[in-house]
Amino acid sequence: MQSFKFETLPYHVLFGVDTLHNLPAEVDRLQLTRVLVLSTRNHRHLAERVRDILDDRVAGLFCEAVMHTPVDVTTRAVEFADRLHADGVVAIGGGSTTGLGKAIALRTQLPQIAVPTTYAGSEMTPVLGETENGVKTTIRNPRLLPQSVIYDVNLTLGLPVDVSIPSGLNAMAHAVEALYAADANPITSLLADEGIRSLLEALPAIRDNPADSEARSQALYGAWLCGTCLAQAGMGIHHKLCHILGGSFGLPHAETHSVILPHAIAYNLPAAPAAMARLSGILARPGNPAAAMHEFCRRLGAPLSLRDLGMPESGIAIAARQAGSNVYPNPRPIEIPAVEQLIRRAWAGETPQT
Ligand code: NAD
Repeated sequence: MQSFKFETLPYHVLFGVDTLHNLPAEVDRLQLTRVLVLSTRNHRHLAERVRDILDDRVAGLFCEAVMHTPVDVTTRAVEFADRLHADGVVAIGGGSTTGLGKAIALRTQLPQIAVPTTYAGSEMTPVLGETENGVKTTIRNPRLLPQSVIYDVNLTLGLPVDVSIPSGLNAMAHAVEALYAADANPITSLLADEGIRSLLEALPAIRDNPADSEARSQALYGAWLCGTCLAQAGMGIHHKLCHILGGSFGLPHAETHSVILPHAIAYNLPAAPAAMARLSGILARPGNPAAAMHEFCRRLGAPLSLRDLGMPESGIAIAARQAGSNVYPNPRPIEIPAVEQLIRRAWAGETPQT
């Protein structure tokens, strides 16, 4: 075995069914008395539920979280937190709400409790992507990591199938890229392996029965592990492309990850033989893991085409050029014509090709 370095982060995680009832104890553990509760507009009822649970330990609700963490929303949230003399935040919702909690913590140093309701995995990372003037930038800072994460399977039972499937594939993408990352090590690969296996089993069961609590538990557990992979290993062309496509064309986050994943695997297939052999084993399909992943996505009814997500054809060459414009570790060097072909196939909804 090769020598390697492994550094873990200070995680504090509660996982299970009906774990939200632990929230008052977590607020006490962090010695918070006036928390600001965050959600999206559509999920204000979740923030209100937190207020019911925490009662007078809630200073106020801010229910304006949106995707890609726009800086102007964060600025308003920080001003609101200051006015309320809030001493912590509770973010309940998907990656958009978790992102707002992180953005507030970055600026105020307030402790955060994250209660995730999708499989995005942001709660496990000290990373934030925020947008200003149409540009999305990524920040890595230990202050971004929530002090407490409460995974309550019950909160995911109502996640619609057409949100659950792309969200689960978004999580899988973190783990796939961790398998072939330049800084991969046996521990991150173990987390990736178990995370992918969990989602591989859970997602078809969720498609068939979205209220299947056991499948939901397995998916949330898998998402947790995959989120840890995102924190621990450097991401490659898949995440880079999704970042560009989301930022430049306003494509939806999880759906874009779903479309790109099989194509990114195909791109890297010849350059990461050991990781790809492991992935084939996990997918239980000898041979081409890109084809196996594409077939898995197709059977789940996941989005398969960037065109269907609203990307203009004229954006293909632009995105390929952007992907080649800065250096980042990826098993296969970034060859702009091949990347353009990757994006074109993904745009048209074609099968992945190496
Ligand atoms: P999201 O939070 O916008 O949620 C996706 C959809 O799910 C929304 O329509 C939302 O209303 C719905 N939803 C959420 N919880 C629900 C529930 N319990 N029941 C029913 N519907 C529910 O998006 P997301 O895909 O979870 O996260 C994407 C965002 O997170 C992006 O901004 C992305 O950049 C960020 N992200 C960041 C990291 C990181 O480490 N920094 C990692 C992953 C994602």
